[in-house]
Amino acid sequence: MDGLQHKYQQTILLLSTNQCAMYCRHCFRKRMVGYSEKELNKRVDEAVDYVKTHHEVTNVLISGGDAFMNPNHIIQRYLEELTAIDHLDFIRFGTRVPVTFPKRIYDDVELLDLLTKYTSKKMIYVVTQFNHPREITSESIRAILELQKRGIQVRNQTVLMRGVNDQGKVLGELLSGLTRIGVIPYYIFQCRPVTGVKGHFQVPICEGIRIVDEAKSYQNGFGKAVRYAMSHPLGKIEIIGELNSQEVIFKFHQNKYADDSARIFIRKLSETDTWLDDELQGF
Ligand code: SF4
Repeated sequence: MDGLQHKYQQTILLLSTNQCAMYCRHCFRKRMVGYSEKELNKRVDEAVDYVKTHHEVTNVLISGGDAFMNPNHIIQRYLEELTAIDHLDFIRFGTRVPVTFPKRIYDDVELLDLLTKYTSKKMIYVVTQFNHPREITSESIRAILELQKRGIQVRNQTVLMRGVNDQGKVLGELLSGLTRIGVIPYYIFQCRPVTGVKGHFQVPICEGIRIVDEAKSYQNGFGKAVRYAMSHPLGKIEIIGELNSQEVIFKFHQNKYADDSARIFIRKLSETDTWLDDELQGF
């Protein structure tokens, strides 16, 4: 179905809009952001029917583009329908708006009232993306506080990028700043090989491990719980660490094949390798 991806057995991803408050150069969906509507979910009713008939699904991630760039009546429609489905445990919104357009949250009473109403029916999480400590501004904190006051949990995913947050101290400051405002950092993602910018932003995996380990060394337990991870056609892979020189331990965090959902494997990488091959033969 257009705009609906049954990502993992328990998770459905909805591409709800192609609008964002800014254009991120590292974005892996930039083929559609502000441009193509081909991959979007335009039929809320059909998406909801799909979720209703798949009882193994426990959560829906409403993403985009940026989920909070949908008009309020669309957000309400999703929430009204999805919060009424018994087998869903929670609903997530994927949005950079707390960072890129915080006023959209703290200054929109209608949106805040909607979130208040529906989070009392079903847990709502906001998954956002702060990439640098300087993005934690008084404005973004204000938006986060408004969400938290309503019982909404805010989690953060960071993309590791050359020239942005590729120093242990900077990344560490980001993790500390987030935990300080009650935003739990849960993934640091290896930047994907995005056309046109991969040579610019990608940090080699071995170097990334050292940066993330240094950043974590400055943290307490909350900050240390963050995982360095990468996406892959087979699922999500955690980058655990370096065993011997450039022998890297990986562990599947999600895998489309249930038998491999937590499989551990080792790959010998060069100091310049930034990605794994799509097939992962013999892993
Ligand atoms: S806000 Fe998210 S979807 Fe939009 S351009 Fe940035 S990374 Fe891409």
